[in-house]
Amino acid sequence: MLYDQHVHSAYSEDGNPLICDIAARAIEIGLRGVTITDHFDLCTDPIGYPFYMAHEEARKADFAAARAQYGDRLELRWGLELGNPFLMPGVADPILAERSFDFILGSVHYLSDGRDVYLVDYSTPERRGEALSMYFEDMLTLIADGGFDSLAHLDYPLRPMKGLMEPTLVPWREQIEAVLAALVRRDMALEINTRGFMDWKNRQEPEDWVLRRYYELGGRMITIGSDAHVLHAVGGAVDRAEAKLRELGFEGVTVFTDRKPALVPFA
Ligand SMILES: [Zn+2]
Ligand SMILES: [Zn+2]
Repeated sequence: MLYDQHVHSAYSEDGNPLICDIAARAIEIGLRGVTITDHFDLCTDPIGYPFYMAHEEARKADFAAARAQYGDRLELRWGLELGNPFLMPGVADPILAERSFDFILGSVHYLSDGRDVYLVDYSTPERRGEALSMYFEDMLTLIADGGFDSLAHLDYPLRPMKGLMEPTLVPWREQIEAVLAALVRRDMALEINTRGFMDWKNRQEPEDWVLRRYYELGGRMITIGSDAHVLHAVGGAVDRAEAKLRELGFEGVTVFTDRKPALVPFA
C-alpha cells in the first residue's frame, strides 16, 4: 500500500537512476506506487530548469518504457519538483502550462536573494535567524503564487545544520504557523520527507509538532516521499512515515493523479 511521491531520476542534474530501474526496485521492495519528481528549479545553477528541458525527451522515453514493462505491477506517476519559481517570475508558468503532470511538489531550494539554502552560512544564531526568516517568507510567496500540489521538505534548511543546533524548527514556530495556515487555505498538501530518518535528525521531515499543527488547522492531505537521488534510497522509510501519520490521527496518505488528490485510507 506504500507510495513514494518524491523520487529523482537521471533527468535531475544531481540524480542518477534510470526510471526503469526505479520501477524495478520499487516492485522489489513492495511499493504500490512511485511518482518521479525531477528538478525544475528556477535558477542558473547546473541544477536549474534548462537541464530538465534538455533531458525531457529522454525522460519521457524512459518513463514510457518503464510503464510498458512494469505498469501492471506498479502505479507509476509523472511528476516534478518545482523550485523557487519566484526567482524567475513568469518563466515557469508558460512552460508548465504546456505540459501535464500527475503531481507537482513545491520547494524553496534558493532564497529570494539568490542564496542556495544548502550552502547558507548558518554558523551563528543571528545568521540562522535571518536566513530562516527569509526562507519562510519565501515559502509564503511560493504558496501564494501556487502552481504546485504539495509543499516539499519544509525543514530543508536543517539538513546542512548538523552540529550547529538541535534538529528543531521551534524558534520559527510563528512563521511555520503562517505557512501551514496558508497551505490549508489553499487546499494544498504537506509532504513528509523520509530523508530525515537517514540523516542526523533521525526522524521524518518535518518534526511531529509541525504535522500535528497542520492537522489541528484542518490539514488532511499528506504526501510521503523519500527524496531518493540514488536507487537504493527509493522507498526509504516510507513505512515509518506512514506509521507516524497513523499515530498522529491522519486517516490515510494522499496520492495525486492528474494533479488531483485522492485519500488512500490506511487498511
Ligand atoms: Zn528538494
Ligand atoms: Zn527532491
